Amino acid sequence: MAKKEFQAESKKLMDMMINSIYTNKEIFLRELISNASDAIDKLYYKSLTDPSVGMNKGDFRILLTRDKDNRLLTVSDNGIGMTVEEAQEHLGTIAKSGTDEFFKSLSGDAAKDSQLIGRFGVGFYSAFIVADKVTVYSRSAKAAQNEGVCWESEGLGTYTAERIDRKERGTDIVLHLKADAQKFLDAWVLETAITKYSDHIAVPVYLWKEKTAETPK
Ligand code: ADP
Repeated sequence: MAKKEFQAESKKLMDMMINSIYTNKEIFLRELISNASDAIDKLYYKSLTDPSVGMNKGDFRILLTRDKDNRLLTVSDNGIGMTVEEAQEHLGTIAKSGTDEFFKSLSGDAAKDSQLIGRFGVGFYSAFIVADKVTVYSRSAKAAQNEGVCWESEGLGTYTAERIDRKERGTDIVLHLKADAQKFLDAWVLETAITKYSDHIAVPVYLWKEKTAETPK
Protein backbone atom coordinates (compact mmCIF):
# COMPACT_ATOMS: atom_id res chain seq x y z
CA MET A 1 0.00 0.00 0.00
CA ALA A 2 1.33 3.44 -0.90
CA LYS A 3 2.53 5.47 2.03
CA LYS A 4 1.52 9.08 2.16
CA GLU A 5 3.50 11.95 3.61
CA PHE A 6 2.13 14.03 6.41
CA GLN A 7 1.94 17.71 5.76
CA ALA A 8 5.46 18.99 6.63
CA GLU A 9 4.31 20.95 9.66
CA SER A 10 2.55 17.93 11.09
CA LYS A 11 5.77 15.97 11.26
CA LYS A 12 7.60 18.82 12.94
CA LEU A 13 4.79 19.20 15.45
CA MET A 14 4.83 15.52 16.17
CA ASP A 15 8.58 15.47 16.79
CA MET A 16 8.38 18.45 19.11
CA MET A 17 5.42 17.08 20.94
CA ILE A 18 6.98 13.68 21.50
CA ASN A 19 10.18 15.29 22.78
CA SER A 20 8.82 18.09 24.89
CA ILE A 21 5.64 16.82 26.48
CA TYR A 22 7.05 13.79 28.22
CA THR A 23 6.44 15.30 31.63
CA ASN A 24 2.69 15.28 31.11
CA LYS A 25 2.06 12.21 28.99
CA GLU A 26 -1.50 11.60 30.14
CA ILE A 27 -2.86 14.60 28.24
CA PHE A 28 -3.29 12.30 25.22
CA LEU A 29 -6.33 10.92 27.08
CA ARG A 30 -7.84 14.37 27.44
CA GLU A 31 -7.38 14.96 23.73
CA LEU A 32 -8.73 11.60 22.55
CA ILE A 33 -11.71 11.70 24.93
CA SER A 34 -12.47 15.22 23.76
CA ASN A 35 -12.32 14.16 20.08
CA ALA A 36 -14.58 11.18 20.81
CA SER A 37 -17.02 13.45 22.59
CA ASP A 38 -17.05 15.94 19.67
CA ALA A 39 -17.73 13.05 17.26
CA ILE A 40 -20.65 11.91 19.43
CA ASP A 41 -22.05 15.45 19.68
CA LYS A 42 -22.03 15.68 15.89
CA LEU A 43 -23.99 12.46 15.46
CA TYR A 44 -26.32 13.30 18.33
CA TYR A 45 -27.25 16.64 16.72
CA LYS A 46 -27.77 14.92 13.41
CA SER A 47 -30.02 12.36 15.10
CA LEU A 48 -32.32 15.13 16.33
CA THR A 49 -33.38 16.00 12.79
CA ASP A 50 -32.61 12.75 10.97
CA PRO A 51 -34.43 9.71 12.36
CA SER A 52 -32.49 7.41 10.00
CA VAL A 53 -29.49 7.77 12.35
CA GLY A 54 -31.36 5.39 14.65
CA MET A 55 -29.60 6.41 17.86
CA ASN A 56 -31.03 7.68 21.13
CA LYS A 57 -29.20 9.94 23.52
CA GLY A 58 -28.63 7.07 25.94
CA ASP A 59 -26.93 4.94 23.28
CA PHE A 60 -23.85 7.11 23.02
CA ARG A 61 -20.71 6.15 24.93
CA ILE A 62 -16.95 6.31 24.94
CA LEU A 63 -15.13 3.12 25.79
CA LEU A 64 -11.55 2.49 26.82
CA THR A 65 -10.35 -1.06 26.28
CA ARG A 66 -7.09 -2.58 27.44
CA ASP A 67 -5.20 -5.46 25.89
CA LYS A 68 -2.29 -6.03 28.22
CA ASP A 69 -0.81 -8.95 26.31
CA ASN A 70 -0.36 -6.85 23.20
CA ARG A 71 0.19 -3.56 25.01
CA LEU A 72 -2.80 -1.92 23.30
CA LEU A 73 -5.11 0.75 24.59
CA THR A 74 -8.18 1.54 22.48
CA VAL A 75 -10.41 4.59 22.71
CA SER A 76 -13.73 3.86 20.99
CA ASP A 77 -16.70 6.07 20.29
CA ASN A 78 -19.99 5.54 18.48
CA GLY A 79 -20.04 9.03 17.04
CA ILE A 80 -20.02 10.45 13.52
CA GLY A 81 -16.95 8.50 12.30
CA MET A 82 -14.81 9.23 9.24
CA THR A 83 -14.71 8.23 5.60
CA VAL A 84 -11.37 7.34 3.98
CA GLU A 85 -11.16 10.85 2.56
CA GLU A 86 -11.98 12.46 5.90
CA ALA A 87 -9.38 10.35 7.71
CA GLN A 88 -6.75 11.41 5.16
CA GLU A 89 -7.74 15.01 5.35
CA HIS A 90 -8.22 15.32 9.11
CA LEU A 91 -5.57 13.03 10.50
CA GLY A 92 -2.87 13.74 7.92
CA THR A 93 -2.71 17.49 8.32
CA ILE A 94 -2.41 19.85 11.24
CA ALA A 95 -5.93 20.80 12.03
CA LYS A 96 -6.62 24.30 12.96
CA SER A 97 -6.39 26.96 15.48
CA GLY A 98 -5.45 25.30 18.75
CA THR A 99 -2.85 22.96 17.35
CA ASP A 100 -1.17 25.53 15.21
CA GLU A 101 -1.05 28.10 17.97
CA PHE A 102 0.33 25.55 20.38
CA PHE A 103 2.99 24.66 17.85
CA LYS A 104 4.03 28.28 17.43
CA SER A 105 4.24 28.75 21.19
CA LEU A 106 6.54 25.80 21.83
CA SER A 107 9.90 26.94 23.12
CA GLY A 108 11.78 23.64 23.24
CA ASP A 109 12.06 24.02 27.02
CA ALA A 110 10.24 20.99 28.44
CA ALA A 111 9.14 22.65 31.68
CA LYS A 112 7.70 25.69 29.93
CA ASP A 113 6.17 23.65 27.15
CA SER A 114 4.38 21.28 29.47
CA GLN A 115 2.70 24.31 31.06
CA LEU A 116 1.40 25.30 27.66
CA ILE A 117 -0.42 22.03 27.31
CA GLY A 118 -3.16 23.08 29.66
CA ARG A 119 -3.84 26.14 27.56
CA PHE A 120 -4.09 24.56 24.14
CA GLY A 121 -5.75 21.57 22.62
CA VAL A 122 -2.95 19.64 20.97
CA GLY A 123 -5.24 17.20 19.27
CA PHE A 124 -4.97 13.77 17.76
CA TYR A 125 -1.17 13.90 17.40
CA SER A 126 -0.78 13.71 21.16
CA ALA A 127 -1.43 9.97 20.71
CA PHE A 128 2.18 9.67 19.58
CA ILE A 129 3.40 10.81 22.99
CA VAL A 130 2.58 7.33 24.30
CA ALA A 131 2.26 5.22 21.15
CA ASP A 132 4.81 4.16 18.57
CA LYS A 133 2.00 3.17 16.24
CA VAL A 134 -1.59 4.38 16.02
CA THR A 135 -4.25 2.48 14.09
CA VAL A 136 -7.60 4.14 13.51
CA TYR A 137 -10.59 2.06 12.43
CA SER A 138 -13.58 4.15 11.50
CA ARG A 139 -16.83 4.20 9.61
CA SER A 140 -18.73 7.37 8.90
CA ALA A 141 -22.39 7.53 9.89
CA LYS A 142 -23.13 8.20 6.23
CA ALA A 143 -21.02 5.33 4.84
CA ALA A 144 -21.92 1.76 3.90
CA GLN A 145 -20.38 -1.20 5.69
CA ASN A 146 -17.74 -1.68 2.97
CA GLU A 147 -16.73 1.98 3.18
CA GLY A 148 -14.90 1.91 6.48
CA VAL A 149 -11.31 3.05 6.84
CA CYS A 150 -8.14 1.76 8.48
CA TRP A 151 -5.64 4.59 8.94
CA GLU A 152 -2.25 3.80 10.41
CA SER A 153 0.94 5.64 11.23
CA GLU A 154 4.08 5.21 13.25
CA GLY A 155 4.30 8.97 13.62
CA LEU A 156 7.44 9.18 11.53
CA GLY A 157 6.11 11.31 8.73
CA THR A 158 4.04 8.81 6.77
CA TYR A 159 0.69 7.10 7.13
CA THR A 160 -1.43 4.61 5.23
CA ALA A 161 -5.18 4.73 4.75
CA GLU A 162 -7.22 1.96 3.18
CA ARG A 163 -10.83 1.07 2.78
CA ILE A 164 -12.08 -1.73 4.99
CA ASP A 165 -15.26 -3.53 5.84
CA ARG A 166 -16.53 -2.45 9.24
CA LYS A 167 -19.76 -3.47 10.86
CA GLU A 168 -20.02 -0.75 13.49
CA ARG A 169 -20.25 2.96 12.85
CA GLY A 170 -17.95 5.20 14.84
CA THR A 171 -14.24 5.14 15.57
CA ASP A 172 -11.68 3.01 17.38
CA ILE A 173 -8.31 4.64 18.03
CA VAL A 174 -5.86 1.83 18.82
CA LEU A 175 -2.68 2.93 20.57
CA HIS A 176 0.26 0.55 20.35
CA LEU A 177 1.83 1.76 23.58
CA LYS A 178 5.55 2.40 23.92
CA ALA A 179 7.37 0.37 26.57
CA ASP A 180 7.65 3.45 28.80
CA ALA A 181 3.90 4.13 28.57
CA GLN A 182 2.75 0.78 29.95
CA LYS A 183 1.24 2.44 32.99
CA PHE A 184 -1.66 3.45 30.75
CA LEU A 185 -2.82 -0.17 30.86
CA ASP A 186 -3.29 0.14 34.59
CA ALA A 187 -6.98 0.42 35.56
CA TRP A 188 -6.33 2.84 38.39
CA VAL A 189 -4.21 5.17 36.27
CA LEU A 190 -6.88 5.17 33.56
CA GLU A 191 -9.77 5.67 35.96
CA THR A 192 -8.03 8.62 37.57
CA ALA A 193 -7.35 10.21 34.19
CA ILE A 194 -10.91 9.53 33.00
CA THR A 195 -12.34 11.22 36.07
CA LYS A 196 -10.07 14.18 35.51
CA TYR A 197 -10.75 14.59 31.82
CA SER A 198 -14.38 13.60 31.43
CA ASP A 199 -15.71 16.26 33.75
CA HIS A 200 -17.16 18.42 31.00
CA ILE A 201 -18.07 15.48 28.78
CA ALA A 202 -21.79 14.79 28.45
CA VAL A 203 -21.53 11.10 27.51
CA PRO A 204 -20.37 8.31 29.80
CA VAL A 205 -16.77 7.12 29.52
CA TYR A 206 -16.39 3.45 30.45
CA LEU A 207 -13.27 1.49 31.15
CA TRP A 208 -13.49 -2.10 29.99
CA LYS A 209 -11.41 -3.72 32.69
CA GLU A 210 -10.95 -7.16 31.25
CA LYS A 211 -10.88 -8.44 27.74
CA THR A 212 -13.92 -10.60 27.12
CA ALA A 213 -15.75 -12.00 24.13
CA GLU A 214 -17.85 -8.84 24.05
CA THR A 215 -14.88 -6.50 24.12
CA PRO A 216 -14.80 -4.42 20.97
CA LYS A 217 -11.56 -4.81 19.10
P1 ADP B 1 -9.26 19.24 16.46
O1 ADP B 1 -10.02 18.28 17.35
O2 ADP B 1 -8.74 20.44 17.20
O3 ADP B 1 -9.98 19.58 15.19
P2 ADP B 1 -7.52 16.99 16.15
O4 ADP B 1 -6.12 16.86 15.65
O5 ADP B 1 -7.73 16.52 17.53
O6 ADP B 1 -7.93 18.50 15.98
O7 ADP B 1 -8.49 16.19 15.19
C1 ADP B 1 -8.51 16.50 13.82
C2 ADP B 1 -9.82 16.10 13.19
O8 ADP B 1 -9.88 14.67 13.04
C3 ADP B 1 -11.07 16.44 13.97
O9 ADP B 1 -11.46 17.79 13.77
C4 ADP B 1 -12.08 15.46 13.39
O10 ADP B 1 -12.57 15.91 12.14
C5 ADP B 1 -11.21 14.23 13.13
N1 ADP B 1 -11.32 13.27 14.26
C6 ADP B 1 -10.43 13.06 15.25
N2 ADP B 1 -10.88 12.11 16.13
C7 ADP B 1 -12.09 11.72 15.67
C8 ADP B 1 -13.09 10.77 16.12
N3 ADP B 1 -12.93 10.05 17.23
N4 ADP B 1 -14.22 10.64 15.36
C9 ADP B 1 -14.41 11.36 14.24
N5 ADP B 1 -13.52 12.27 13.76
C10 ADP B 1 -12.38 12.46 14.47
